[in-house]
Amino acid sequence: MLGSACAQRAAAPAACSTVRAPQQQQAAALAFRRAVGGGGAALRSAAAGSSTAAPPCRGAACTQAVAAPERPTQQPSAGGSEQPPLKVIIAGGGIGGLVLAVGLLKRGFDVTVLERDMTAIRGEGKYRGPIQIQSNALAALEALDTHVAQRVYEEGCITGDRINGLCDGVTGDWYIKFDTFHPAVDMGLPVTRVISRITLQEILADACRALAGDSIILNSVNVVDYEQGVDPKTGRKIVTAIAQDGRRFTGNLLVGADGIWSKIRDKMIGPTKANYSEYTCYTGISDFTPADIDVVGYRVFLGNGRYFVSSDVGGGKMQWYGFNKEPANGTDPPGKRKERLMEIFGDWSHHVTDLLKATPEEEILRRDIYERAPMFKWADGRVVLLGDSAHAMQPNLGQGGCMAIEDAYQLVLDLCHEADKAAEKGPGAELDVERVLNGYMRKRVVRAASIHGMAGMAAYMASTYKAYLGEGLGPLEWLTKFKIPHPGRVIGQIIMKATMPGTMGRVLGGFRRTLDQTDRLPMCHLADQPQGFPHDLFPVYMEDDDALLRASHAAWVLEPVTAGANRELHLEFEATKGQSPVISRQGMTVGRAAACDLRLDAPSASDRHARLHQCEAGDYHITDLGSQQGTYVNGKRLVPNTPHRLLPSDELCFGSNDLGGKRFKVKMMHRSLLEGGRHGSYERPRSVPPPSDATMGQPQLGAAQ
Ligand SMILES: Cc1cc2nc3c(=O)[nH]c(=O)nc-3n(C[C@H](O)[C@H](O)[C@H](O)COP(=O)(O)OP(=O)(O)OC[C@H]3O[C@@H](n4cnc5c(N)ncnc54)[C@H](O)[C@@H]3O)c2cc1C
Repeated sequence: MLGSACAQRAAAPAACSTVRAPQQQQAAALAFRRAVGGGGAALRSAAAGSSTAAPPCRGAACTQAVAAPERPTQQPSAGGSEQPPLKVIIAGGGIGGLVLAVGLLKRGFDVTVLERDMTAIRGEGKYRGPIQIQSNALAALEALDTHVAQRVYEEGCITGDRINGLCDGVTGDWYIKFDTFHPAVDMGLPVTRVISRITLQEILADACRALAGDSIILNSVNVVDYEQGVDPKTGRKIVTAIAQDGRRFTGNLLVGADGIWSKIRDKMIGPTKANYSEYTCYTGISDFTPADIDVVGYRVFLGNGRYFVSSDVGGGKMQWYGFNKEPANGTDPPGKRKERLMEIFGDWSHHVTDLLKATPEEEILRRDIYERAPMFKWADGRVVLLGDSAHAMQPNLGQGGCMAIEDAYQLVLDLCHEADKAAEKGPGAELDVERVLNGYMRKRVVRAASIHGMAGMAAYMASTYKAYLGEGLGPLEWLTKFKIPHPGRVIGQIIMKATMPGTMGRVLGGFRRTLDQTDRLPMCHLADQPQGFPHDLFPVYMEDDDALLRASHAAWVLEPVTAGANRELHLEFEATKGQSPVISRQGMTVGRAAACDLRLDAPSASDRHARLHQCEAGDYHITDLGSQQGTYVNGKRLVPNTPHRLLPSDELCFGSNDLGGKRFKVKMMHRSLLEGGRHGSYERPRSVPPPSDATMGQPQLGAAQ
């Protein structure tokens, strides 16, 4: 268990020692706790029940528990002492808008979400694939609403508990690996997960409805404009969101959470052009069980002018993105997307091509990727931007949605602090909305811009990777055949290795100081620990590619390439008995003779042609047994009677290719597929059940020592 692993790691105490003492934490959390009106205990007790049990934000003057929550219009104030609750209009019910709505509703604000197209929430929207929610955003979510966070933990698929990183697109070799697990655990943050956007939005929308009823999210409201003014009855400043059909929604604050093509932003700063990233993105999801799913979470395959991302998304499904450099607005003839993708990525590693082959044509979507230059004005009077409307970035860092969640957290925190101050001033004091919005903007601008910059950098690096000298050099392309490592690749790798831990710390932990202002205790969840391998081996797999390869619960398979060679050889042992040629540790022979374990009925094969076997370390080898025509690996003839190590994607040819040799590709196959399973049916084990509501707010593993 991670707990015991942590306890045993004397040299790397991780979460066990780096997190702050509960007393310190409590002191730092004071302000937010006061702002939520019921103290930390109240927030935790709210978490232990449904979202509806939350105490409203009512200022220090109103710290008694209140019966929660009718729609808080009748409640004492989240707008300052004895003021009606602040009425917040949120344009856009995407990730950012809904997280903000949950956070504000829990603290007693009066919220209305105006959504242009509810199908986006119900999941019928086109691009609602899975999304990675990283440690920074999960912690913010947890601090806003532990009940919502727990549902995300239960529904999501942890990828941060495994090795992730960048690979060479063609060979599949690791370029650099990321450890997102230990930085998270060391900082007392939840470990990164992937969750379906549909599920995430449903969880958030459910929480909103549980807090304030069905009318909290209004559908088919296309907000196109806003006006600011003063309510003639009360004299209070107001803002009105105006829908395309003329409907008007008035409140004290308008949040533009309406995404990259935001109308609120257009009104605020005038229309601006989105930047085309120069990449179109094909995306798909398929039932697929990669051979190394137990040890690898997600991978980015690098190339020149193209790159590919694959990620386990749970439920037996893999999500992938294929990016290709080309002009915007390209289209594919009907039914031809897969073909196009095979043209682009067909000669890449089998990790890539297997996924493409396994994806039904109709599951493949295509969109052009846009971003917007960082902006430094997010607020205009009582109107403010949040999420993509303020900082749409490239998707490469998987942080766009996470930044929207951080934004939402910051805005809730700041509104609560200001409500607290107003309450302290006494009856009649009003919450200074404009000050809050400007403060929120100042706090968020730098972090959002730096993550935006890193996302752009990540995109640049992923798409300008050149494995060998000569690549992209036009007339000098022939140089690639010498396989001289490209200097850019080598230098890039050195720089990335040196800077990666710091970068990871900034991305995942850069928001921690703000999180410390709440009563969320730094903690690790037992359920976050690696399930597919002993935790102690994590650092070994980070360093040693071979050890990681051997750790896959995979059988090695020879997939026929030559037409007619329709039989797969499973280079496997006991597990496959009776299902495929079983090879003992001593190995199996290949050849024409009847005594061979695998008979090759081809003139190119010698009677005893070659031998396949596994060495003590677990690697697979092939030895040519002095065959007449030879055995070839990747076009190179093997020295007879000398073992040669096999690697995934190697191509074997028994006999000369020119003389009709039988060709096979070396592949790995997840064990479950040999044991009667089918692609998509394998569920990674969860040895520890998700933490119960009752324990969610408590540090586990003795983390906060
Ligand atoms: C291929 C790809 C992969 C990505 N992967 C990740 C990832 O793994 N992790 C991550 O954190 N981020 C990821 N992102 C980025 C992420 O999708 C966005 O940053 C995130 O969705 C932004 O959330 P938002 O709430 O600001 O905007 P959105 O999610 O775009 O929501 C905006 C909402 O506003 C509504 N709306 C729009 N206009 C109006 C209007 N005029 N009136 C009313 N409603 C309106 C829309 O219907 C929508 O529901 C990815 C992006 C892409 C393109």
